[in-house]
Amino acid sequence: MKQISRRHFMEAAAAGALSASVLPALSEAGEKPNKKPLYIAAYDTEAAECLAAVAKIVDVHKRYEMPATFFIVGKTLLANPGEYRRLLTNPLFEVASHTYTHGLLRDHPFGPPAVSDEEKRNEIFKSKTVIENILRQRCTGLRTPYGYDNGLKGDPKVLGLVKEAGYDYVSSLLWGPDCSQPALLADPFNYAADGFGELWELPGHGWHENLLTTNNGWGPRRLTLWPPIMPEAIPDKRVSTPREEFEVYKVFIEKARRDGNLFVSFIWHPWSLNKFDPEMKMLDLMFDYVRGLGIETGTYGQLYRRVTA
Ligand SMILES: [Zn+2]
Repeated sequence: MKQISRRHFMEAAAAGALSASVLPALSEAGEKPNKKPLYIAAYDTEAAECLAAVAKIVDVHKRYEMPATFFIVGKTLLANPGEYRRLLTNPLFEVASHTYTHGLLRDHPFGPPAVSDEEKRNEIFKSKTVIENILRQRCTGLRTPYGYDNGLKGDPKVLGLVKEAGYDYVSSLLWGPDCSQPALLADPFNYAADGFGELWELPGHGWHENLLTTNNGWGPRRLTLWPPIMPEAIPDKRVSTPREEFEVYKVFIEKARRDGNLFVSFIWHPWSLNKFDPEMKMLDLMFDYVRGLGIETGTYGQLYRRVTA
């Protein structure tokens, strides 16, 4: 993947394609800064309990001028439209779809069965319409509930619906091989092999934090791969403090910097973050660390524009 040049970067910034908050990452002297990976904070906003959590999360983001993508379930947004409009209408934030009711678009070994074809259409189309009507901004991305170890590869029906609805990207590669945790540091790709070359996959990385902290209440589960691909990212017990949680994520950022990955973004859920860490200390640790590294920060929408530039 080509690296964005300083000239292109400045043009993109001038055109508003990149948030002002990424500008300090450029060095004054003009030497080539190590800007990779782009760090994206992202939240699967899917439950009634998410509203109170999002209010806290937004405060932390404002403090750090940290961009974010909120993938939101249409029904969750419809339950509190005014509150979400007030919280999420901010140039720092992108709001994208997490389907209309959180119905599965494909079967997943740990989830309920996929919904019917007609319901899939509703999940994909209606969430986009609801977000655009309530938040008065274009919704260009879709994160599938649960996610998969191969994204939407080999599913032209669902890919066709996503394209027909007018999305630019999906974020559905959210598991490691054989539906294991954690999800590896996959870079974006398009679905040309399935006949949808203009549709991009922008994966998520690391652990679904609700599994790392066992907030799902699933108990012991067959979750990790053996032999593991990233043993250093698999703690030997449940994570019990915000710092321990942060230390797991840090492993991925260090690896992404070493390997030159294009971006890194974790799979976070407001309801679960708030349950585990009501003071949002982990976000403080993470954003402080990211700012200290001087790497760029942005949204999934900005990543899409970058990979298709
Ligand atoms: Zn979800």
